[in-house]
Amino acid sequence: MTRILAIANQKGGVAKTTTVESLGAALADLDVSVLVVDLDPQGCLTFSLGHDPDQLESSVHDVLLGDEEIADVLLDTEDKVTLLPATIDLAGAEALLLMRPGREYALKRALAEVGQDFDVIIVDCPPSLGVLTLNGLTAADEVIVPLQCETLAHRGVGQLLRTVREVQQITNPDLTMLGAVATLFDARTTHSRDVLADVADRYDLPVLNPPIPRTVRFAEASASGASVMRGRKNKGATAYRELAENLWKHWDAGEDVRTLDF
Ligand code: ADP
Ligand code: MG
Repeated sequence: MTRILAIANQKGGVAKTTTVESLGAALADLDVSVLVVDLDPQGCLTFSLGHDPDQLESSVHDVLLGDEEIADVLLDTEDKVTLLPATIDLAGAEALLLMRPGREYALKRALAEVGQDFDVIIVDCPPSLGVLTLNGLTAADEVIVPLQCETLAHRGVGQLLRTVREVQQITNPDLTMLGAVATLFDARTTHSRDVLADVADRYDLPVLNPPIPRTVRFAEASASGASVMRGRKNKGATAYRELAENLWKHWDAGEDVRTLDF
C-alpha cells in the first residue's frame, strides 16, 4: 500500500523542503521506493535534486491542469528518489485551478495513476495555505508539520491545524495529523526544548522523534547541489535517517510513531 505524506507549514524557512529531500533519500537508502512531489512554484526541491526548473518542458503544473500525464513528467534523481518537478508556471496554477470544479482533488487524481509504483510519496507544500497546499493535504494520508524551534514557532500553527481540520471535514476525512518535526534544533540550550514543549502543549501536537539538529552541513549542501545525505557523516543526516526508520516502522510494521516526552 502506498503511503502519501504531506510536509506542510505556511511559514517559509522552517525546513519543509530539506525534510522532504532528506527523508526521501533516507527512505530510499532503506530500499523503499520513493516519489517526491514539488508543489512550490519556487522549485527549490526540484533544484536541489539536480534539475533546473527553468530548463524543464513540463512540470506538476501541467499535470494538475490535466495537460500532461504524470508518468510523462516524472524525473530520476541522483538521490535514488523519483521527482515530480515544479517550475515557476505553478505560480499561475492557483488562479487557473480556482476556476475548476474539484480543484482540491487534482493532485490526488494524478497520484492515483502512479501510486502502485511507489511505497511512499512525500509532498513538499508551498509556504501558503492556498489551493496548492489544499491539494497536498487532500491527496495525503498523513501530514507532518516542520517547526523551527525559535520563540515565535507557534505563530501560524493554529491556522495550519484549522486548515487540516477543514480538509478532514470536507475533502479528506482520512487525513491524519502525525505530528510536528523539530527542525533547526539546538540541543546545547534548553530554549529549543522549551519552545517545543510549549507548542506541543498549546496545540496538543505530538513531536516526532528525533529532533533535527541545526548543522552548517545543510547550508553547504544546498550551495553545492549535493544532498546532505550523500556527504560525509553528520548529525543532521543521522537524525533524518532515524526519523525515516521511525516512520517506516510505523508504515510497514504498523507501530505507533515514536514521539518525544516533555
Ligand atoms: P522551507 O522549505 O520550509 O522554506 P528549507 O528546507 O528551504 O525551508 O530550509 C530553509 C533554509 O534552512 C535552507 O537554507 C536550508 O539549507 C536551511 N536548513 C534546513 N535545515 C537545516 C538544519 N537542520 N540545519 C541548518 N540549516 C538548515
Ligand atoms: Mg520549501
